[in-house]
Parts: sequence; C-alpha cells; structure tokens
Amino acid sequence: MLKQLDHVHSPTLKAVLLCDIGANFNHFGTPHDALTFLGQALAVTVEHDLHFSRILVRENLGQTLLQLGRLEEGEHFLKEGLDEAVAGGYDRWEAYLRCTLGEHLAMTGDVQAGYEHLIRATQVAQHVKDSYLASTSASTLGRALRRLGQLEDACHHLEMGLRIAQDADLLGPCKLAHQELSELLAQQGNFEKALRHFQQFHELAMKVQLEESRRHAQLLILQQELDREREQSESHRQTNDELRRAHSVMQRQAEELTRLASEDTLTGLANRRQFMRDLAVKKADGTSFAVTLIDVDHFKSVNDCFGHPVGDQVLIKLGQLFSQHTRADDAVARIGGEEFAVLLAVPDAVRAREVAERIREAVAAHGWNEIAPELAVTVSVGIVLGEEAEEQDNLLRLADARLYEAKQSGRNKVV
Ligand code: GH3
Ligand code: MG
Ligand code: MG
Repeated sequence: MLKQLDHVHSPTLKAVLLCDIGANFNHFGTPHDALTFLGQALAVTVEHDLHFSRILVRENLGQTLLQLGRLEEGEHFLKEGLDEAVAGGYDRWEAYLRCTLGEHLAMTGDVQAGYEHLIRATQVAQHVKDSYLASTSASTLGRALRRLGQLEDACHHLEMGLRIAQDADLLGPCKLAHQELSELLAQQGNFEKALRHFQQFHELAMKVQLEESRRHAQLLILQQELDREREQSESHRQTNDELRRAHSVMQRQAEELTRLASEDTLTGLANRRQFMRDLAVKKADGTSFAVTLIDVDHFKSVNDCFGHPVGDQVLIKLGQLFSQHTRADDAVARIGGEEFAVLLAVPDAVRAREVAERIREAVAAHGWNEIAPELAVTVSVGIVLGEEAEEQDNLLRLADARLYEAKQSGRNKVV
C-alpha cells in the first residue's frame, strides 16, 4: 500500500489516503507514526492549495496533537480547520470540527467556549441532516456536562443523541450514548436503567470491537510493510556506504598504481617509461628541445668502495642536483641504474650546452663527503637536439654515442 502511494498522481487522493493512514495510526495508539503521515498529507494540501482536504488533515492533526498532549498546537490546527470550513461553507466539517474542539475545550478549561461549539455543532449537523454528527455532538455535549456535574442538562443531550443515532441506526453513536447514559444514571443512583443502557452499550461495543479488530489487522500489515521498507532502506544505505568506501579505496589504489608506473621509487623522479612519454609529447608539439643523457662516472667503484647504500644516496642526491639546476619546464628522469636523462626546453645547441655544463660542474663541485669521506662523483653528458633525428630511438642512440664519446675523452665531460 505504501509503495502504491507513489503511483497515486491525484494530489487530492494522495492527501486523503495519507490522512486516512495517519488517522488509523492515531486511532490505534501510535500517534507518532500518525504525525508523519499527517504532516505529509498537510504538505500535499498546501502545495496544491486543496482547501477541502486541508480541513480534513487539520482536523486529524489537531486530534493527534491533542492525544500527544500538545494541546496548544492541537487547538491551533482545529481552529484553523474550523475557520477554513466556515469560510468555505463546508457545514459538515464545521460541525465536525466544532464537535472535536468543543469537547476538548469543555474538558480542559474554556468550558463556555466548549459548550458553544458543541451546541452549534449539533445545530449545524441537524441542519445538514447528518445524523452521525448530530448524535455525536449531542452526546459529546452530554458527556461534557455530565463530567461537570450538570446531570439534568447532560441527560437531556444524551437522550437526544441516542434518539438521533437510533433513528438512523448508527452503531458508534448509539454505543457512545448508551455508555454515557449508563454512567449518568448510575451517578444519579438509577441502577436499573443504568444496567439496561450498559447492556446495550456492551452489545454494541462487541460489534464495534469486531469491526475495529479487522481494521487493526489491516493496520498491523501496513506497519509491517513500513518496518520492512525502513529496514530495506537502511540496508540499501549500508550497501551504498560500503560501495562508496570500496570505490574510493580502488580509486586511491589506481592513483597509486599510475604514480608507481611513471615514477622511479628510489629518487622520486620520472622513470624511463614516463621519460619516453614526455619525449613523444615534446616531439609532437614541435617546439625546440634537447635531450641530455647523463651517466655517472665509475659508479661501480663508488659501490665497491663505499657500499651500495652510499651508491643509492649518491643517486638520490644527483636527482636533486639535476632538478635544482634545470627549470620547471625541463623534465628530469632516471632512465637506468646510474643513467639519467633531462629533456631541456631550450631553443638551440648553445643553450643546451650551457645547461649541460652547469649540471656537470654542479656535480663535480658538490660536497660529496657529506655522504662519505673522500667520496667524489662526476658525470659525463651526451647532448642531442630534438631536430637531429625524427625517431625517438635514433635520437637516444645519437645521445648515447655522444655520451660514449664523453667517456672516451676522459669522463666528466659534455659532448
Ligand atoms: P662508467 O664510467 O663507464 O659509466 O663506469 P660505471 O662503473 O659507472 O659503469 P658500469 O656500467 O660498469 O657500472 C654501473 C654500476 O651502477 C653497476 C651497478 O651496480 C650500479 N648501479 C646500477 N643501479 C644502481 C642502483 O640503483 N644503486 C646502486 N647503488 N648502484 C647501482
Ligand atoms: Mg651506465
Ligand atoms: Mg656509469
């Protein structure tokens, strides 16, 4: 039923259904659930400007709030509903709201206003020939008077309520009138008549009870549906959270993998694969550039004399020196064990050579003894201009040949 509500397109029908569900929850003692539905119903009536349905919803909201002990709010809704009913000329609703409001006021303080509402309710109900309302209003007035000790007047109204209900053969109102009359007569000491009314009240109560049990069963089914939907939406929420968490873990892992795939773990510089990609991009965009291949001189003996960890520190430091002596536009990479490459954004061979020399000198002049006493490091550099070969491989082969030349001519050289 709750699911079907989503398919109800008529706002009026939706408001009335929501209101009916709310009223049932209230009737069976779960006013908090009732408020949820009634609140939704009120929103529908406000959104679509449904005067008539709004009166119905306000009446129910009023009753529910009174039941919850929120008297001021309850009265407020009832009064609003009543005003709207009077303004719209909805007599039945006027009678109904006056009856509810009247009973409440008669019991809770403003007795005079309560009476007036109840008397007016009876008149209006009789005028529109609504026996149910006329009987209920009369009996309610009777009940209020009885509780206030005005037994004669109470009797008069209760008998009137009973008469109207009997004439129209109305179960609920008959029951109410019999019950009230039985209590009133007992109060007056007329136990024989009180008993007769009580028996009739009891008989009717059984019938009403049966009817109510059926409604209660329907409501329990509805409540189960509601609980199931709450559980389902809770488990959906949990599944969504788990999926979201898993997704962000995977996203982080994917980012990490991408980073690892392009980065050299020892120095944090770009690796060979990334260098080749950068080179391809550089080649494609047509700006002039140079590639410098840098190889550490006699690095094997660094490892042999000072140990592999020192060799590693040298490689890390070299990476830092190359980055320091190039610009942000240039790309420094470690493309092999002790072999580096720098993609230089320079216009010509002169500028390329200047940078390469600066790098070579910086390495030779660095205070390597901060890593190990008597450690000295130099590099040999081979330069090639981007325009010297079409293919990347040929470009690197050329750079490699010049690096070899630099080694042959004594190392610590730029060729
Ligand atoms: P050359 O001047 O001719 O380049 O001599 P070299 O000793 O530098 O050249 P060679 O190719 O003979 O030796 C390279 C050495 O670099 C051998 C290898 O153990 C060392 N090496 C390569 N990768 C690493 C690394 O990641 N860490 C360390 N510590 N050493 C490495
Ligand atoms: Mg080498
Ligand atoms: Mg070497």
